[in-house]
Amino acid sequence: MTTQTMGRTQQFLEEVERYSAHNYHPLPVVLVRGEGSWVWDVEGRRYLDCLSAYSALNQGHRHPRIVHAARDQLDRLTLTSRAFHNDRMGPFLRLLCETTGFEKALPMNTGAEAVETAIKMVRKWGYQVKGVPDGKAEIIVCENNFHGRTTTIVGFSSEAQYREGFGPFTPGFVLIPYGDAEALEAAITEHTVGFLVEPLQGEGGVVVPPEGFLQRAREICTHHGVAFMADEIQTGLGRTGRMFCCDWEDVRPDVLIVGKALGGGVYPVSAALADAEYMDVFRPGDHGSTFGGNPLGAAVGEASLQVILDEGLAERSAELGAWFMDRLRAIDSPHVEEVRGRGLMIGVVVKESSGTARPFCEALQERGILAKETHHQVIRFAPPLNIAREDLEWALEHIEAVLTA
Ligand SMILES: *Cc1c(COP(=O)(O)O)cnc(C)c1O
Repeated sequence: MTTQTMGRTQQFLEEVERYSAHNYHPLPVVLVRGEGSWVWDVEGRRYLDCLSAYSALNQGHRHPRIVHAARDQLDRLTLTSRAFHNDRMGPFLRLLCETTGFEKALPMNTGAEAVETAIKMVRKWGYQVKGVPDGKAEIIVCENNFHGRTTTIVGFSSEAQYREGFGPFTPGFVLIPYGDAEALEAAITEHTVGFLVEPLQGEGGVVVPPEGFLQRAREICTHHGVAFMADEIQTGLGRTGRMFCCDWEDVRPDVLIVGKALGGGVYPVSAALADAEYMDVFRPGDHGSTFGGNPLGAAVGEASLQVILDEGLAERSAELGAWFMDRLRAIDSPHVEEVRGRGLMIGVVVKESSGTARPFCEALQERGILAKETHHQVIRFAPPLNIAREDLEWALEHIEAVLTA
């Protein structure tokens, strides 16, 4: 790298340092273009994207069908608000419902909004259908969870930094250890309306629950009349090698929350799905979003989902992920404690004695691989699901070099 080209990156970093809130700690790379699994920086260097924007890019960068759908819609109609109907929301929600097997969907934009939607839906269901006394509804959540960044959601986080300085918080949430079905059953009271869970914790460090946990939790929820709410914003849409991570244990949640890859990396699209018993608690005026269900988002969402189905990306994730994880486990590294995950959602856990995951991510960046640490000790590998096997082969050489250095 010449001093002059270094200067270009530096200039962008300084601008962001000067004008942006400091709520992130990004790797020092400034990207200008993306295609499929690859991105290019301002210096013209190429990188393999092994983060996929936290699984919002399961279909890869600028998938032609998704970009085409967006472009087409940009030339027709972009926003109506829900004060009027548009001709794209219905077809999108129909495909989403048919794909997931739920009767109804409520479209939002970001993941956190879809989680908030699910919380409101299940609370109101608790009062109206289950008969919980007003103001008493409880929702059980798991330690080490990540469901977004609103004040209500961070209020039930077990991560001190997510909460500190942001209270007071919304009451009505109860924490249990992740993966502990007995603790779930013990925490249920007559006021419990829902159990909100990630079927595999992403931001928490790619934590796979004990086998049978989801099924056992499903049985417990059914037995006690508690809504099982699966946050599949990161794990869903093929990421873990099934369409939804709950499919690994043949579990059907009562409320399914999707986001991220539903927008194909082009536009924020999220939704909460449920059958009419839950969804019908919403009356006009109860809930909404100016942009939720807008025609541009709906066109992008429909195309994004169709790509995952047509290209068999869940199957691809299962096959490539199993192979990739085996290869990662075969690396004889003094720094690695464990390799875990499902499909192409993989975490390489760095031993505490080897420091944090961050320097490994920086070393990978120098070799042209973009991965990001999560929870200090974990290097997450979550490339686009349509990544070429040769590209993963190439990445493995560099990952091995970095992990054995
Ligand atoms: C990313 C994520 C969210 C929040 O989504 P945003 O679009 O960032 O609001 C919620 N739950 C899970 C499991 C996520 O991974």
